Amino acid sequence: MTLHSRPPVIRVDAELLIPGRGVPIPHATLVSEGRKIVYVGKQSTLPAKYAQIEGTVVPVLLPGLWDCHVHFFGAPSFTPEVVTSTTAALAGARSARDLAATLNAGFTSVRELGGYGAQISAAVEEGWLVGPNIYSSVSMLSQTAGHGDAREEDMTMICSKMQQNMPFYLCDGEAECQKAVRTMIRRGATVIKVATTGGGSSKDELQARQFSDAELLIMVQEAQRGGLAVAAHCHGKEGIKAALRAGCRTLEHASFANDECIALMKEKDVLFVPTRTAINFALSNPKAWTPENYRKIVQLADANLRAYTKAIKAGVRIALGTDIGLSATSLPLNHGMNGKEFVWAVEAGLMPLEAIEAGTARGPESLMMNAIENGDDESDDDGEPPLTKAPKSGQLKVGFDADFIAVSENPLLDIAVLANPEKVTHVWKGGKLFKEPGKLATLILPVH
Ligand SMILES: [Zn+2]
Repeated sequence: MTLHSRPPVIRVDAELLIPGRGVPIPHATLVSEGRKIVYVGKQSTLPAKYAQIEGTVVPVLLPGLWDCHVHFFGAPSFTPEVVTSTTAALAGARSARDLAATLNAGFTSVRELGGYGAQISAAVEEGWLVGPNIYSSVSMLSQTAGHGDAREEDMTMICSKMQQNMPFYLCDGEAECQKAVRTMIRRGATVIKVATTGGGSSKDELQARQFSDAELLIMVQEAQRGGLAVAAHCHGKEGIKAALRAGCRTLEHASFANDECIALMKEKDVLFVPTRTAINFALSNPKAWTPENYRKIVQLADANLRAYTKAIKAGVRIALGTDIGLSATSLPLNHGMNGKEFVWAVEAGLMPLEAIEAGTARGPESLMMNAIENGDDESDDDGEPPLTKAPKSGQLKVGFDADFIAVSENPLLDIAVLANPEKVTHVWKGGKLFKEPGKLATLILPVH
């Protein structure tokens, strides 16, 4: 494969095709041409013009998977001190492996909510590195003394000293909050991330409400003007409700969501991203935390599972995100272990087919804005398409991106198939084959 070579016409015949949304099709064929899917349906109704193309035969075909919450920090620990002392170049170098591992696990797209993904994605798009499509928030926006602040020293000072667009960014007051969103857009953000409560890894309380209503509203409005959705990190219920009132699109963690929060999630039609992979990892690794942080992790872990189960029962829309973000090959929170989130989803109460939708078709929806309620949406009636950074992907459907994967066994019978990268036999992204049996996606292009 050479840089910028035209992707070929690809045909895949599958015993079972799971489209991401809708009913699985037995004895199906998919054809892609260039970067787009041009046929999906029964083998028996394949148009004659595709009949001569030699197909790859696979047991099960799925859309390329989506992880809606990752971080490319290039650091072996989540603590702010370790993340901020990792230079951007070192983080980028370590992330080369992480990107390839993500793609090998069948994840062709990720939404990155803080990290170096926006900077690294150019190398992936140019073909220097192999990896998923990256939709990044650049930094997480936090108030002073909030979830993204190290506290001993002003995090913005640490970040600006290092001059490298760090994954943390502090802003206070409406004017700074508005400018922070614009700054993220200038740095290449395709989604905005805000923290509306404290967190397990920071020094604040899980219930601590962060940012005022006015600050949140101006950030959401500014993001929407740029065509971007807002993802809210939140645990405590006051911060969950504030994020919902302001118009945030996705709720990350939302651990202490009670019945009132869940009813509001439904009413606002937002996506809930519970991030069980990171929470279960944190819970099973007490030594990785200070006693104070671990106390909070124990508190939030059970609450998060209860909220997840309740939300599923109430019909809240779930999108899968792992919060994976460590560069350390000996831990279960490595990039490439993303598929475990499907197993947690089924344990929480989703049917396997629903879990697959949550990890495929829902991905792009996490980048779409909520309906604008303040009456200044002028693009409704004149046929002008809405401004959005959401790609057409996550489904096997004509006109959608040619991102699809094959697995060796039926995940509807055993969802754990998706948690095992060895059972992901093929990965196509943008109409190109990156992984096939006996050949993993290589880290980088060969040097000639
Ligand atoms: Zn996160």
